[in-house]
Amino acid sequence: MDSSAVRLSMVAKLAQQGIADPRVLQAMGRVERHRFVDTALVNQAYEDTSLPIGLGQTISKPGVVSRMLELLYQGHAGQLGRILEIGTGCGYQAAVLSYLCKEVYSIERLRGLHDKARENLRHFRLVNVHLLFGDGMLGYAKGAPYAGIIAAAGGDAVPQAWIDQLAVGGRLVAPVSAGATSPARQALVVIDKTSQGLRQTVMEAVHFVPLKSGVD
Ligand code: SAH
Repeated sequence: MDSSAVRLSMVAKLAQQGIADPRVLQAMGRVERHRFVDTALVNQAYEDTSLPIGLGQTISKPGVVSRMLELLYQGHAGQLGRILEIGTGCGYQAAVLSYLCKEVYSIERLRGLHDKARENLRHFRLVNVHLLFGDGMLGYAKGAPYAGIIAAAGGDAVPQAWIDQLAVGGRLVAPVSAGATSPARQALVVIDKTSQGLRQTVMEAVHFVPLKSGVD
């Protein structure tokens, strides 16, 4: 599939939706999203929609991926250092991240998807992407501190381990459920770790798969 034209039009739509960071748009334009979905879904790969990737999980919408990456990058002039991604899924967002930062540590709790991501990413030969199998609620202490942490699954609260593993001056972007009474209602939360402490900003509503503990 020669996807460069459809990818360019996807990027143009993201820009129309308000994604302004040229680094993010460029990275979104580089990654062939159709390589991360099943053959039957290839025709939909460049639409702004989430798609099933197996085991009840989904690849996030390009609009949401680019929005979160833009938030992660806000206020940073150059490339970011180490980034931790919770929820590798099919590996798509990890591939986009690889063009935006020095090192990507991406953790997945489902063995089947961890293996699938490894398979999907082989083609791209991204030497700065490190795929880890484990419970991302614990973060990944060995790679800490992180310049940024980005979660693709939403829980009731941001795990303390993520805050601990975030560098001072770092930023975390994650979906968080609005309250115990409505677990389905999530919002994007941005947490900045400064030398004065934490600053939390609640952004727009989002729909992510649930953050679960342990591995399967
Ligand atoms: N960024 C992915 C999105 C995958 S969906 C992509 O581009 O395809 C979110 C993923 O988070 C799912 O695969 C789910 O299994 C995973 N997940 C949920 N809770 C997790 C946890 N505690 N640790 C690691 N991964 C988790």
